[in-house]
Amino acid sequence: MCPSDLHPANASCSRRSALLGTISLLALPSLGLAATPSTPAVTSGVWPQNLPVPGGIARLSLGPATARPVAAQGEVPLLVLGDVTGWTALVGIPLSATPGEASITARTSNGAQRELTYRIEPKRYSEQQLKVSPRTVDLSPDDLARHERERAHQQVVMATFSQPLPPTLRMQVPVPGRRSSSFGLRRVFNGQARNPHSGMDIAAGTGTKVAAPLPGRVIDTGDYFFNGQTVWLDHGGGLLSMVCHLSAIDVQVGDPLATGQRIGAVGATGRVTGPHLHWGVMLNRSMVDPALFLMA
Ligand SMILES: [Zn+2]
Repeated sequence: MCPSDLHPANASCSRRSALLGTISLLALPSLGLAATPSTPAVTSGVWPQNLPVPGGIARLSLGPATARPVAAQGEVPLLVLGDVTGWTALVGIPLSATPGEASITARTSNGAQRELTYRIEPKRYSEQQLKVSPRTVDLSPDDLARHERERAHQQVVMATFSQPLPPTLRMQVPVPGRRSSSFGLRRVFNGQARNPHSGMDIAAGTGTKVAAPLPGRVIDTGDYFFNGQTVWLDHGGGLLSMVCHLSAIDVQVGDPLATGQRIGAVGATGRVTGPHLHWGVMLNRSMVDPALFLMA
């Protein structure tokens, strides 16, 4: 259990009213991208699952073009993968998104710009009641000030969009262990609604090696009020991952990591009830379900 997840990455929390209704995931239309030949850079051919719900990912076909189109949602650049026979924009949908029509813009190298619309389907996440120390729900002025500073810092980290783009989108779990399916849970701490859970909790003992889920570069390390000892990795193209509550950090900002390379060790730092790994995956500044990047 991970009460830390009132964390800064999810600070905009007036969102729960948006998560209404239910949906059969099997009924979601496939965009048929399995048949799209992948660029040599995407060797695995494995894409994140198409799941256009809050906390999910929409795969939007941009069609063929001689050069990679540039796509954005508002001001936020999007990850575009594929090749000349067909390009695809991957759109991370925040847990705070309101179901209904949404749009992106895509611009080709000849300057032609168009808008593509897609539909965010509703998804109702379960509610979880948690009882924790009152000081971790009603923050002291000092703790609140610290949290605000850390949130501002993390906003900068989360805006990272770099090249090269990820060589694959098939991720490896950072630690073996029982994975919770708690992504998106609406959390009520001591009777007070707080941010939903924005990552995957994996059961593992203190000291267990935490490994990079994809090749990436370390862009932030720190010891944060809610998240404890944390490392952010930049995988390129606005795809980031974070691992939290570590007992040890064995990397430094700027370090390049290969998949499986050591980041640090599982711990219980920050606001937790026990040792475990909290793993978050961010796409275009939206925390999305890490399970979408795993094979099974
Ligand atoms: Zn967690």
